[in-house]
Amino acid sequence: MIYLNGEWMPIEQARISVLDRGFIFGDGVYEYVPVIAGRPYRLAGHLRRLDASCREIGLRNPYSDERWGELVREIVRRNGLHDQGVYWQVTRGVARRDHAFPKDAEPTVFMMSNPLPQLTHEQVAEGVSCYSVPDTRWHRCHIKSISLLGNVLARQYAYERGGVEAVMLRDGFLSEASASNVFCVFDGILVSPPKDHHILGGITLDGVWALAEAHGLPRVMRPISEAELRAADEIWLTSSSKGVVAVTRLDDTPVGHPSHRGRPGPLFRRMYDWVQADMRGEAAARATDILA
Ligand code: PMP
Repeated sequence: MIYLNGEWMPIEQARISVLDRGFIFGDGVYEYVPVIAGRPYRLAGHLRRLDASCREIGLRNPYSDERWGELVREIVRRNGLHDQGVYWQVTRGVARRDHAFPKDAEPTVFMMSNPLPQLTHEQVAEGVSCYSVPDTRWHRCHIKSISLLGNVLARQYAYERGGVEAVMLRDGFLSEASASNVFCVFDGILVSPPKDHHILGGITLDGVWALAEAHGLPRVMRPISEAELRAADEIWLTSSSKGVVAVTRLDDTPVGHPSHRGRPGPLFRRMYDWVQADMRGEAAARATDILA
C-alpha cells in the first residue's frame, strides 16, 4: 500500500497528473528512512532534513513532524514486519507549465515502502568496488532534491563497470558518492569531507560521526584531495539503505593500507558492528516515541 495525497491504495492504482511539477521539472524533495524491526532509524534527523530541503527550495512543508511520523508508522504497519525502506517525496504540485512557482498549487505527497535492501555477506566481508567520476552536479547538493540526473548518470557509469557506486570528485577533491557519503581513514583518523553545499548531509554520516565520538575515535571533517583518496588506509560508504560498507577497489585498483589492501580495514570492522548495534538498539530505544 502506498500513500498519495491523503489516500491509501495499491501502487498500481496510484495516478498523478502529467502536469505535476515533479514530472515536468523535477521540482520537489524527498526522504528515505530505514525501518528496522518496525522502527524508523533516526527519523527526527530525516524530518529535520526534509524541512530544510523544503525551505531551501521555497516549498511549503505540507505536514508537521508529528503527521509525517504518523504516516511512516502507518505505512510500516500496512506493509508488514520485515525491515523496510520508507521513501516519500513532496513536489510543488500540479500547475500549467511555467518555470516560476504557481500561486495556488497544492504540494503532491507520495509515500511508499519497500523491503530494506540487504548487503550480501560477501559485500560486508570483502567490501565493494567503486569507480570515480567527475562531480558534474549543481552547487546545491545539500538539498535532497528529486532532480537526480547527475547522480543517475554517475551511478550508471559505475554500474556498467560492475561497481556498486560512483565516487565523485569536484575540482580535484572528494565530494560524495552517487547515493552515499564517503569516509576515509588516514593513520587511524576518520576523515570526511566538510558538510557543505557540495554534499548531502547524510543521516547515516551523522550516526557514524556520533558513534566515532562516543567511542573516542580521532576524527576530522576536512577536504580530501584525489591523491589522498587514492592513498587512503580505508574508504567507506554510508547511506540509509547500506549502513556502512568498505570500498576495497577503486577504479579496479585495490584500496587500503598494505596490511589489508583490497580487504576491509580494522576500523571498518569496528564501525560496522557499532552501526549495526546502533540501528537495532537506538531504533528500539525510540520505539515508544515513534511507534507507541
Ligand atoms: N549522498 C547522496 C547523494 C545520497 O543520495 C544519499 C542517500 N540518499 C546519501 C548521501 C546518504 O544519506 P543518508 O545517510 O541520509 O541516507
